[in-house]
Amino acid sequence: SLSEKLQNVFKNLRGKGRLSEADVTTALKEVKMALLEADVNFKVVKNFIKTVQERAVGQDVMSSLTPGQMVIKIVNEEMVNLMGSETTEIAFKAGNDITVILMCGLQGAGKTTTTAKLAGKFKSKGKKPLLVACDIYRPAAIEQLKINGDKQGVPVFSMGDKHKPVNIAKAAIEHAVKNNHNVVILDTAGRLHIDEDMMNELIEIKENIEVFQTILVVDAMTGQDAVNVSEMFNNKIGIDGVIITKLDGDTRGGAALSIRAVTGKPILYAGMGEKLTDLEQFYPDRMASRILGMGDILTLIDKAQAEIDEDKAKELEKKFKKSEFDFNDFLDSMQQIRKMGGIGDILKMMPGMGGGQLKDVDIDENALSGVEAIIFSMTKAERGNPDILNTSRKKRIAQGAGVDISEVNKLVKQFEQMKKSMKQFSGLMGGKGGKKGRF
Ligand code: GDP
Ligand code: MG
Repeated sequence: SLSEKLQNVFKNLRGKGRLSEADVTTALKEVKMALLEADVNFKVVKNFIKTVQERAVGQDVMSSLTPGQMVIKIVNEEMVNLMGSETTEIAFKAGNDITVILMCGLQGAGKTTTTAKLAGKFKSKGKKPLLVACDIYRPAAIEQLKINGDKQGVPVFSMGDKHKPVNIAKAAIEHAVKNNHNVVILDTAGRLHIDEDMMNELIEIKENIEVFQTILVVDAMTGQDAVNVSEMFNNKIGIDGVIITKLDGDTRGGAALSIRAVTGKPILYAGMGEKLTDLEQFYPDRMASRILGMGDILTLIDKAQAEIDEDKAKELEKKFKKSEFDFNDFLDSMQQIRKMGGIGDILKMMPGMGGGQLKDVDIDENALSGVEAIIFSMTKAERGNPDILNTSRKKRIAQGAGVDISEVNKLVKQFEQMKKSMKQFSGLMGGKGGKKGRF
């Protein structure tokens, strides 16, 4: 297997310290093969290897990794970057305005199935979707959508096969307005290959209807072809995102990497089976390890990384614990934190802090300078004990810092919250941490 091959390459890689050009070249040869085997587009592979090569040569090898692992770590990070690094959600119109979603793609890609899958997801989010049968060419298509809509408990709008898709769509939106639907999903017809009629039909819909999201559905098993299809659809009608189906098969899914690289559009979901619940959020990091086909090595690298982060976290913990942490300490540590590279980055490095909890803390880096100005306007006593701040003092401070008094109030509140969070961090940092989900 590729994993074994790479392990062998690693064995031959020598020396710690810096990654030599030879180290990198040897490892990347295997990576290149792996990517091509996984159906990643040739041009994408070429650019990708070049990027990694440039980044890797001369890099320090982390003390707990072998040079080969270090290369793979960089490869993995760059792959995640290429795929957008974060999960992207389907966008909805604000308020209760109707969000019209146009589903497009080749025949058999999974449009109709995915339309029904999405309807279920939206419904569970409290939306009120309406599915629209715009495929008038395959006799069974309308029936298929109705059956699937039924299963999801979501109504399906159809006008048979005697009307133009654009007119069906228009009528459907009127129906949606009358019946208080706030999401309309148009299930359109595909063709076996890219074809002018299909494109024109989609263009006509987009010219006459306010489509909010155009989602392309592609079949992961078609490999390279999926990439060409994505490029064509994006150029001709413009797409907002892609859903890759049939990732439950044994395809490695290199198409995911290529599609993102070639179109610049995010992958939104992954189809993982024929059942209507088989639609998963798309996670670039998981996809990267799937494409590389070496989740085991990546897990190992993760662990090594976590150990190093833990050392850094301990250092920080001491700093937090030593201070009573009032606004004076806050000012002092701000400088230090800046030197160490941003408060968000530091918190992320802490084991267990990468995910949810961070969001609640809500520290906006840009706001920090404004925060400093406010603290500077306080007296030393006030910085030590913000409780003594009364309204007239807060007003003066706001004036001094050139901000609204609400900003001062917000800061004092946030500071209390942060203190609470610090306590939690200290507790958490005491334990072992750093697990990340992988296939
Ligand atoms: P459409 O022509 O684009 O509307 O494609 P369909 O929705 O009719 O799907 C074509 C076939 O692919 C059907 O047999 C689906 O059950 C199947 N299919 C769709 N999505 C997936 C998926 O994620 N995994 C698997 N294994 N099959 C899928
Ligand atoms: Mg269909």
